[in-house]
Amino acid sequence: MSAQRSRFPFDRLREKLDDTELRCRQCGYVDSDGGWRVRTSGDRVSYRHVCPSCNAIETRELRL
Ligand SMILES: [Zn+2]
Repeated sequence: MSAQRSRFPFDRLREKLDDTELRCRQCGYVDSDGGWRVRTSGDRVSYRHVCPSCNAIETRELRL
């Protein structure tokens, strides 16, 4: 489910997030292979990451 390859203006933001260490706030697990799931709705972009260790959900939301 990673077929979204369009050039959205938030691609830069995603790259920035990808550079951020994905560290779970709940258990401290660092998901070095993981990435953010991106979802758009209207003028907002939601990023979501699920911790593979404890399934805690981390979210970021950005306005376009
Ligand atoms: Zn966790």
